Amino acid sequence: MEIDKLMYEPEYVFEKLTDNQKDEMEKLCGEYRAFLDAGKTERECVSAAVAMAEKAGFVSFDSASELNAGDKIYIVNRKKNILLAVIGKSPLTEGISLVGAHVDSPRLDLKQNPLYESSNMSLLKTHYYGGIKKYQWTAMPLALHGVMFTSEGKQVDISIGEDEDDPVFCVTDLLPHLAKDQMSKKLSEAIEGEALNILFGGFTIDASEKKDKFKKNILSLMYKKYGVSEKNFLSAELEAVPAFKAKNVGLDGAFVGAYGQDDRVCAFTSLKAILDVDMPDKTSVCLLVDKEEIGSCGNTGMLSDFFRFALAEIAEKQLGSCDYLTLSRILKNSSCLSSDVGAAVDPNYEGVTEKQNAAYAGCGMVLMKYTGARGKSGSSDASAEFVYRIGKILDDNGVFWQTSELGKVDQGGGGTIAQYVANLNMDVIDCGVPVLSMHSPFEVTAKTDIYMAYLSYVAFYKCN
Ligand code: MN
Ligand code: MN
Repeated sequence: MEIDKLMYEPEYVFEKLTDNQKDEMEKLCGEYRAFLDAGKTERECVSAAVAMAEKAGFVSFDSASELNAGDKIYIVNRKKNILLAVIGKSPLTEGISLVGAHVDSPRLDLKQNPLYESSNMSLLKTHYYGGIKKYQWTAMPLALHGVMFTSEGKQVDISIGEDEDDPVFCVTDLLPHLAKDQMSKKLSEAIEGEALNILFGGFTIDASEKKDKFKKNILSLMYKKYGVSEKNFLSAELEAVPAFKAKNVGLDGAFVGAYGQDDRVCAFTSLKAILDVDMPDKTSVCLLVDKEEIGSCGNTGMLSDFFRFALAEIAEKQLGSCDYLTLSRILKNSSCLSSDVGAAVDPNYEGVTEKQNAAYAGCGMVLMKYTGARGKSGSSDASAEFVYRIGKILDDNGVFWQTSELGKVDQGGGGTIAQYVANLNMDVIDCGVPVLSMHSPFEVTAKTDIYMAYLSYVAFYKCN
């Protein structure tokens, strides 16, 4: 045995790709950037997924009278959560191949009663969503996305700040000249949650108005454009997100930089993969969930019963009925790639990672046997058998992959949907694309890793 063959080292992927593969990678990443620009909220991502699925021949589950091998269907849950399936040749009771990703991302949500005026300005109060470093959200152009309902009950889709001619919004920050007190605070306390108020206007409605002149001007504009009043904010869901578009990063364009790549990079690649599936052995399923960033709670998060319910609906249509035992058998025989981003080693902060067990940008798909914090708390910890099986599928299909922990032991930690999938008695492993600047307004991923994630999901659907 040649001694070098006994050694392991993750491989840098770019140099291993053929010219054709590099072209395919660039094409995929172009589509990915467009997907990111079209989907800056969970609702927009689900709408984009439906449009892509229908173009690829998927139909709404309700319109399918029976289900046969090769049929392609989707089920949408409350506009924020979607399941897509390609029915396999083997019966559902032999299990499914599931790739699950999330489409919600950290952001600033508007409070229910957000509008006020102060110092000749109209402002909007916010409540941040997910784990953000608050200082990153100031002094940067923001767009406003979401839905409102008029007093007559008409839904109004809001998207302001994305078109070239649209105005944008921002959270102002303190000038360094007067920031003596602020600069001596801890980073986590320097910007307070209640200080993340968005600049929304600065003209008055009419010189003759005595009170609330700035606010009334905004309300008048909102009424003219959308037919809404101040009360309609109470029921609205409005999200402030970075207003810039996804870009190539680096002189050689090796990376994609954009808002919301956690976890739309895995959502997009798993979606693209299932759109390519034809006649799989096992039924292939792609699940895009909401609310992962706040604990997978809520009726559109992984902890909701939607997934089990949708699976039972599919089983009933295929098998004629689906009792508790049947559904339990389906789940027991199923496997899942919990597809979420990992932390890439950052040359500016190498100290937080243990380099032998860290993910590197450009070294491909990252498999994470466990996540969690401290003593693996909150992790599903995939079995040796399952990690081997998935690694083998990737190897057999020429996919480059690496493994990682989230960081040094006791440096911090995090969780994903994996533990909730594991609770359903399925095999599951976390895997996905390593990210730089995770949860910041401008996250960075390597194109080779995006491409490898896509190839991983294709291989999993084909060979699992
Ligand atoms: Mn994530
Ligand atoms: Mn996250």
